Amino acid sequence: MLNRWNDQEASKLEGDLLKLRVYTSRLQGQDPDLVLHGGGNTSVKIKETNVFGEEEEILYVKGSGWDLATIETAGFAPVKLSRLLQMADLDELTDLDMVKYQRTAMTNPSAPNPSVEAILHAIIPFTFVDHTHADAVVTISNTPGGEERIREIYGKHMLIVPYVMPGFILAKEIYNLTRDFDWNKVEGMILLNHGIFTFHDDPKVSYDRMISNVSLAESYLASKGIEALSEEEGANANLEQLARFRKHVSEAMKKPTLCRLNQDQQAVAFSNLDEVDSIIERGPLTPDHIIRTKRTPIMLGKDPEARLSRYIQSYQNYFEKNTPGDLTQLDPAPRWGVWPGVGTVSIGPTVKHVRIIEDITAHTMKSIHQAEQLGGWVALPEKDLFEMEYWSLEQEKLKKGGKPPAMQGKVALVTGAASGIGKACVDELLSQGAVVTALDISADITSVFDTGQVLPLVCDVTSEEQMKDAIEKTIIHFGGLDMLITNAGIFPKSLYIKDMSDSTWSKSLDINLTSHQRLFQLAKPYLDEGIDPAIVIMGSKNVPAPGPGASAYSVAKAGLTQLGRVAAMEFGGDGIRVNILHPNAVYDTAIWTDEVLQARADHYGLTVEEYKTNNILKTEVTSVDVARMAVAMLGPVFSKTTGAQVPIDGGNERII
Ligand code: ZN
Repeated sequence: MLNRWNDQEASKLEGDLLKLRVYTSRLQGQDPDLVLHGGGNTSVKIKETNVFGEEEEILYVKGSGWDLATIETAGFAPVKLSRLLQMADLDELTDLDMVKYQRTAMTNPSAPNPSVEAILHAIIPFTFVDHTHADAVVTISNTPGGEERIREIYGKHMLIVPYVMPGFILAKEIYNLTRDFDWNKVEGMILLNHGIFTFHDDPKVSYDRMISNVSLAESYLASKGIEALSEEEGANANLEQLARFRKHVSEAMKKPTLCRLNQDQQAVAFSNLDEVDSIIERGPLTPDHIIRTKRTPIMLGKDPEARLSRYIQSYQNYFEKNTPGDLTQLDPAPRWGVWPGVGTVSIGPTVKHVRIIEDITAHTMKSIHQAEQLGGWVALPEKDLFEMEYWSLEQEKLKKGGKPPAMQGKVALVTGAASGIGKACVDELLSQGAVVTALDISADITSVFDTGQVLPLVCDVTSEEQMKDAIEKTIIHFGGLDMLITNAGIFPKSLYIKDMSDSTWSKSLDINLTSHQRLFQLAKPYLDEGIDPAIVIMGSKNVPAPGPGASAYSVAKAGLTQLGRVAAMEFGGDGIRVNILHPNAVYDTAIWTDEVLQARADHYGLTVEEYKTNNILKTEVTSVDVARMAVAMLGPVFSKTTGAQVPIDGGNERII
């Protein structure tokens, strides 16, 4: 394992214990084999003088909700050490009381809640304390005879502690174990099935000890000839099966969720392991992962519905078997799946959640494969894992953030998304929490949106092959498709019928009509498995109120409107709503440059402002206005409406 300490960096922080604490915490956070997503915690003990002139020793310990990789000084909760030591001396303390008294012992009430391991950090009589859930250490521990192996590697210089529940129980266990203990005899502690602690008054020594001791475990694995997962190509997934699975998982979670297919070569190799179905029944890498991944993944393949109902049944049995009686069952849906020959699937309401699952499961798969070669993967007993899953303090971590946005977990596809109304639609969908596949023929699309919630794809909507590919990528990336805003279009140059060229006519029909029909065809099988699926078609005021010189455009948009009306009838039985918007005079788009606007205004003898608001309400219609209406039509307000045509034009006498 790489030792990332840099003398030059560290020397700049000399004398500032808290900044040094941030520095070595981040060094550990940078290494995913040590620490993953909020796992691990660190602390430093600092003597301070308060406003009354009293000297107190303060434990700055990682605050809950912070990641070691990105932690700042504000991420450490300052707690009076004397109070924590008093707590360690109690015979019993409930989790809620522990949190309450820790908070009352803090010297800054706006700091985050201290880590659940704060009391344990307080007991260890050194200035710097580091704790990680290092993969290699936990992997060795999670094998038959794991404890003997750990003793063989660490018996001489580390304190070895059998698994107990983290929090007060663990702190108390160590408090009792070390009453007459010479801490100077050890470099740290190994907590079986959990992780490793190192400590010292010098931050560098404590960090070095972390790296050297985890390296011992890595060398042990290497000495046993443990091989990494091979790299295998995944077979093509049945994407309709994936979309159907997502729909049913969302039902089990009682909210829409994403299901991302991971065809990383190691995920494929893992899915192909001989005994994969028995291995995955055994449990997670470390118990704290259970709140993210649940105890076991689901096996995927044919008949996803039946597989899911078996999974849910077995989760309910697990709950009933282990609940002490006063707990409410969490949703029984899996958080990841193993699909033999294809890869794995990560389940969560946002791309961020899905990525966390991908990271955790990547490490889990690696460790399981290693442990299998060491005699077999052995996770903690079900009872211990259940306690962790239903531990109030862990559940608190998941509740943060309040009410989710209305469209969280839903998947949309928008065409013509790089600018104008299309871009505004993507922004509006994002603001409501949806993920979006954003298509455009312009390469700009890849740089317009700076968020993982968008899958940007360069795509010519008139190419059947490119459209098919875009939809398949959507399903692989997000697990399904719920909403379409079919917006791509062109405004051909103005020509009277007598002068119409074949190319102008057919290009308008290709893009403004036929491409939409093809999109409907390609998307329909997935919308059938969508969650409250809906389509919004970007029509035009030219449909109800055409003008001379625009036949190629108006005819195509009228055809598109008629297509939408027929689709509303054909798709309605499958629960898919189709509604049509007729915007007019939306001038904040790329084609309406200042010069063009001025020329049009001059033509009618109006100022630009008058020209822009030349409607009954005397109001300007913007891309954002159209986008808000489009997204509202996809949402619950329009849940009982299909086949409707809604103008958004500030009021137009010819249409009214
Ligand atoms: Zn821990």
